[in-house]
Amino acid sequence: MTKLSKRVLEMEESVTLAAGARAKALKAQGRDILELTLGEPDFVTPKHIQQAAIEAIETGKASFYTVASGLPALKAAVNTYFENFYGYSVEPNQVVVGTGAKFLLYAFFAAVINPGDEVIIPTPYWVSYADQIKMNEGQPVFVKATEANQFKVTVEQLEAARTDKTKVLLLNSPSNPTGMIYNHKELEAIGNWAVSHDILILADDIYGRLVYNGHRFTPISSISETIRKQTIVINGVSKAYAMTGWRVGYAVGQPEIISAMSKIVGQTTSNLTAVAQYAAIEALSGPQDTVETMRQAFEDRLNTIYPLLAEVPGFEVIKPEGAFYLFPNVKKAMEMKGFSDVTDFTTAILEETDVALVTGAGFGAPENIRLSYATDMETLKAAVARLKEYMSK
Ligand code: PMP
Ligand code: GLU
Repeated sequence: MTKLSKRVLEMEESVTLAAGARAKALKAQGRDILELTLGEPDFVTPKHIQQAAIEAIETGKASFYTVASGLPALKAAVNTYFENFYGYSVEPNQVVVGTGAKFLLYAFFAAVINPGDEVIIPTPYWVSYADQIKMNEGQPVFVKATEANQFKVTVEQLEAARTDKTKVLLLNSPSNPTGMIYNHKELEAIGNWAVSHDILILADDIYGRLVYNGHRFTPISSISETIRKQTIVINGVSKAYAMTGWRVGYAVGQPEIISAMSKIVGQTTSNLTAVAQYAAIEALSGPQDTVETMRQAFEDRLNTIYPLLAEVPGFEVIKPEGAFYLFPNVKKAMEMKGFSDVTDFTTAILEETDVALVTGAGFGAPENIRLSYATDMETLKAAVARLKEYMSK
C-alpha cells in the first residue's frame, strides 16, 4: 500500500520542467540537443542588479531573516514599479513577496479556495495552474480559447462556464504558451463581468514587459478602480530581468487577501532569500534600459523565426504578440507522420532530430507544441531547419 497522499498521486509532473530536465540529461550524455523547452531568458542578470546583491552580501545585510512578507524597501520598489508601469500606487499592506511567482500563485489558491470552489482557466493555459488549484481542493474549469479567436476567450464563453461555485477567473496576458494579449476593450468587458458576479480576478502579468512589434500590454487592474479591487496581480522578475534563478515573485491586491497570503508564506517558506530581495529592489526601481535591450533581442528572434516556422510542413502558427513562445498547431504534421498523440509526437521529434520542445498536452492543447525562443538565434535557426527537414522527409 502506498504511503503517498491522494493529493500527490493525483498531481501531474510539470511538463515544462520535465522537458527541460530530459533535454539537459541527454545533453549530458553528449547528444547535440537543441533546447527550446524552458521559458527562461538566455541572458545573465544585468550587472547593476548583480552588484546590488554583492553589496548586500558584503555589508552583511543579506545575512538575516526579513519580515516574512518581504523587506519594506522591496515593497516600496514594487510601489515604484506600479507607479511607472501600472499607473497607480500601492500601499505596503497590498504587497507580498515570495519564492517566485509560482509559489505566490499557490499561496493565492491556498488563501481563497475552499473545497469544490471553481477557478475558470482559459485554455491553452500555463502548466502549473490546474495542479495548484487541485492541490488546494479546488476545481479548474477550462474555457477553450480557439485559434480562430486569436487564442482569447469572450465574456459569453465565461458566462456559459459560470456557476454559483465560481470563485476566481485566471487571466494570463501576455499568455504562456500562446503569446496573445487581451486589449483594453476585451479586458474591460471581462473585468466588469467578473465584478458584476463578484468573481476574483487573478492576473498573471509576468510577461507584461515582453511585448513586440507595437503591441501593448494593458494590466486589467489598471482599467478601473472597481476592477482593481477585484484583482490580485501576480508578477515577478524572472522573465523581464533575466532572473529566473533568483526566485523572486510578488502579489499585489486587497489587504485582506494579501495578508492571508503572507500568513501562508510565514508558515511555509518564511521570507524569500534576503539577497534575492536586495537584487529585486535594484531590478524594480533601478535603471530599466537592459529590459529594453533584451526585449529587442526577443523581438528580433520572433520576427526571424516565425516566418521560418510557418514554412515547416504541417505546422500552422499564429504570430504571438508577447512572452517568448511559439505555439504551432501540429494536427496536420501529426497526421503526416502518423501520430495521434502530441506528447508521442514531441518525443519522436526529440529522438529523430535532437530538438527538445514541450508537448501541448500539459497546456490543455492536444494539437499544439511549444517552442521557447528565449534562446540564441543560431540555435533557433538550426532547430527550425531540423524540424523542416524532418517534416519534409
Ligand atoms: N506564470 C507564468 C505564466 C509563467 O510562465 C511562469 C514561468 N516561470 C511563472 C508564472 C512563474 O515564474 P517564477 O516562479 O519564475 O517567478
Ligand atoms: N514558466 C517557464 C515555462 O513555462 C519556466 C518553467 C516553469 O516554471 O514551468 O517554461
